[in-house]
Amino acid sequence: MASVTLEGVRKTFQHDGREQVAVHDVDLHVADGELVVLVGPSGCGKSTTLRMIAGLEPISRGSLKIGDRLVTDVPPKDRDVAMVFQSYALYPHMTAYDNMAFALTLRNVPKREIDARVREAAAILGIEALLPRKPRQMSGGQRQRVAVGRAIVRKPQVFLFDEPLSNLDAQLRVAMRRELSRIHQQLGATMIYVTHDQVEAMTLGDRIVVMNEGRVQQIDPPLALYERPRNTFVATFIGSPPMDLLRGEIDASEGAMCYRSTDGAITLTLPRQWAERVAAWGGREVLLGVRPEDVRVSVLGGATDAPAAGRARVELIEPLGDETLLTMRAGNQELTARVPPHVSAGVGSEVAIGFDPDRIHLFDPATEQRLSEA
Ligand code: ATP
Repeated sequence: MASVTLEGVRKTFQHDGREQVAVHDVDLHVADGELVVLVGPSGCGKSTTLRMIAGLEPISRGSLKIGDRLVTDVPPKDRDVAMVFQSYALYPHMTAYDNMAFALTLRNVPKREIDARVREAAAILGIEALLPRKPRQMSGGQRQRVAVGRAIVRKPQVFLFDEPLSNLDAQLRVAMRRELSRIHQQLGATMIYVTHDQVEAMTLGDRIVVMNEGRVQQIDPPLALYERPRNTFVATFIGSPPMDLLRGEIDASEGAMCYRSTDGAITLTLPRQWAERVAAWGGREVLLGVRPEDVRVSVLGGATDAPAAGRARVELIEPLGDETLLTMRAGNQELTARVPPHVSAGVGSEVAIGFDPDRIHLFDPATEQRLSEA
């Protein structure tokens, strides 16, 4: 296994005679044995980045190393990477065994070694019984296992996955996701995994690269991304339902440093660590970021475990069994809370809302960047 290093990797395409940048100058070091997930909305450049690492798209500028070896201009077959595609890309006329053996046969690996490697990979994936079958005799999940097996038998320096689970139904996706996590641990393999699904990114990645519009937004381990998103894009992309961003300003006029929403419906005294950080922001506009689980809701007149920051009207109640989502309106802003399953408030009722002060986020509305990192 090997590390992967991208330095200033850029991809440009010609569109109507003009050069357009699909991927802007990516710097990324994937450590030996690490599983890094590239995630972002459709068109953000994640697949193009992966395809440049695979050698399926030429790199327009910058350099790529696998281990210590510079491979920027090396053809795909000589990069020692194995890619697993969303479409499985199995040969329909070959059995699972032959699909898995094919790349080794091309390389003139001795038959006995091929057989040992195919059987070892099949055992890892629990697909020994499928080896004599052709793709049309297998389910989608089984075909995807064979596609992963075909990568494993090659013992590549790096595994590349391009949305490998997207064609599977929801239950199978979860099962295969866990399987891939297990295989990653078992093989100690270096893996780069592309998905648009933030849950897949959070659960699989040692680190996550969030991309948008061809640019890397943040590279961090899952919980660091969730707890300290660097900008409003990351803040609202990771987490479901997403973080709400409430418009307002910093008010320092009454001694304590406060956030006040633009319509005056929410006022929150900032905890000391934030007050110190935004000391210079008095009178300036900010976005207050709150995740649904950090909103406290109480029926009016009842006790609340966080000081009330304002009132809101309940507009929608969505019970999920283990919890309930409340969509509320505070002034002219919408806000979602994740609360215990049985709520006594009804649609249309007014409630008091508060926020866990240690878990709020503040962003500059002009730059969309997180304010004053400590
Ligand atoms: P998706 O999840 O929809 O595949 P993505 O995040 O993987 O999206 P890419 O496929 O990497 O995005 O595409 C990034 C951008 O590059 C898009 O704007 C796309 O239109 C453009 N692009 C990709 N391939 C080409 C190409 N061969 N020629 C021109 N433009 C391209």
